[in-house]
Amino acid sequence: MKIEKARELGFCFGVRRALKIIESATNDRVKIVTLGPIVHNKTVVARLKSLGVDVVDDVEKTDNGVIAISSHGVAPATMDKIQGQGAKVIDTTCPIVRSAQKAAQRLAGAGFSVVIYGEANHPEVRGLLGWAGEHAIASMNADEIPLQSLLKRVGILSQTTQSRLEFISFVNNLTERLLPATREIRVINTLCQETLKRQSAAIELAKTSDLMIVVGGHNSANTRHLAEGCIPIVQTYHIENAEEIDAAWLRDKQAIGITAGASTPDEAIEQVIQRIRYLTR
Ligand code: SF4
Repeated sequence: MKIEKARELGFCFGVRRALKIIESATNDRVKIVTLGPIVHNKTVVARLKSLGVDVVDDVEKTDNGVIAISSHGVAPATMDKIQGQGAKVIDTTCPIVRSAQKAAQRLAGAGFSVVIYGEANHPEVRGLLGWAGEHAIASMNADEIPLQSLLKRVGILSQTTQSRLEFISFVNNLTERLLPATREIRVINTLCQETLKRQSAAIELAKTSDLMIVVGGHNSANTRHLAEGCIPIVQTYHIENAEEIDAAWLRDKQAIGITAGASTPDEAIEQVIQRIRYLTR
């Protein structure tokens, strides 16, 4: 039986960068808390906890020590609140998310309503909404955008980790609804190339596999999109760790493809491969 990894998988540069910043800050022996998990992966969060880094879900619950902002970034109001408390900030916002925040801010400043294709409750999208002005809205469904709440100029951008094809379809549907009454529609491509490369590599591998295993947090948007891309092609399972693999999935399979979300550490991928080898020995 062949086990093959996708040619692009696992930690992206934004996540590696965020972890490097936090881990090197722990060397200074100061108490660090992260506002929300630094990435959507329990193994990574547990590793940081072992270095003394805890997670808090609200700025109010922090003392005045050092607060780390995750790779997903935050709204300007949140940053002001943290700084107003006198806390020191370690900002690990991914540069690609930062570009999306700046794009949202520019559109709002130029008099556009900003529509964000994304999950309204995802931390990155909550942050983006904060940069996108008072007429901003986030949704996964173009049909649910209330047109009466939008200005005559509309800017559309995406949560960085969404799927390219789904974003195109969202833009097409929304444009069709907007065109009769809207003066200007501007689309900014804020999709992350690291995410897109993982999506294409996963689909390519799914086409030559009997089974795809997608490794990553169940609450990780980019990992879910990898699984969604493979499901129409081949039997696919999204797991968070090696223990979730059921031996029955592997029966009679000759080629097993592995991919992993951008917040999945290399060790988790290797553990999955070892477990498959063990179950099929
Ligand atoms: S997936 Fe892309 S946007 Fe998100 S942290 Fe990684 S590099 Fe940055």
